Amino acid sequence: MGILEVKNVNKRFGGLQALGDVNLSVAENTVHAIIGPNGAGKSTLLNCLVGKLIPDTGSVMFDGQSVLGRKPFEINQMGISRVFQTPEIFSDLTVMENMMIPCLAKRDGSFEMNAIAALGKQGDIKDKAEHMLEDMGLADKHNMQASSMSRGDKRRLEIAMCLAQDPRLLLLDEPTAGMARADTNNTIDLLKRIKEERDITISIIEHDMHVVFSLAERITVLAQGTPLVEDTPDNIKGHPKVREAYLGE
Ligand code: ADP
Ligand code: MG
Repeated sequence: MGILEVKNVNKRFGGLQALGDVNLSVAENTVHAIIGPNGAGKSTLLNCLVGKLIPDTGSVMFDGQSVLGRKPFEINQMGISRVFQTPEIFSDLTVMENMMIPCLAKRDGSFEMNAIAALGKQGDIKDKAEHMLEDMGLADKHNMQASSMSRGDKRRLEIAMCLAQDPRLLLLDEPTAGMARADTNNTIDLLKRIKEERDITISIIEHDMHVVFSLAERITVLAQGTPLVEDTPDNIKGHPKVREAYLGE
């Protein structure tokens, strides 16, 4: 049994079958990539895992418990954190303020926007946030307004904000999209390090095959809402169906 078990998940948007009988098992402490062409249903699947969408049918189990019917914040508290396709940080706040928010949410189990004003007075929260920024190589950006960071640094901050909640499953939706090669390579190194240092399972949706083959231990190929094949990176590389459906050969 994997830490994440998706069984027969279907999701329609009107006449469009975005997901059709999706089965997926993600083994604990592995990096599992989900690849597939644009519109294959990858983000829809992720949305079904974190409570942003509710599947029409099927089940989603995390560590033996159903996530269906739970709100996103409840699923987050179960131990699933997600990095979105476009960075979701608070642009008007500083890097440090952004970092303190998940630290506070982790300590108190909830977070109120009006608590931002009092963030600076929370000594333990400040220490944890400072430590996280340092660990992520963002210490020198401490007082910078989040909106003025580079794309790569925004992504790094966002990953740090997810990690501050000590998730057991980290979901990433195209984390290197729009990044320059150097930032992409930094992200690969960062994710490798996170995997080495923590008890964590990572599931990553990714377009960049260099990223996929650098990180993934298992790969699921999704095509038109249905898993086409699931295998090791080596087997996926040579799979004729994958070459045809995904690499366009
Ligand atoms: P991917 O992430 O693999 O590119 P998506 O999961 O975003 O694909 O989309 C799968 C299909 O579902 C696409 O055809 C997309 O247009 C459609 N879709 C996604 N979200 C919605 C929505 N909220 N309403 C209607 N159609 C949607
Ligand atoms: Mg997508």
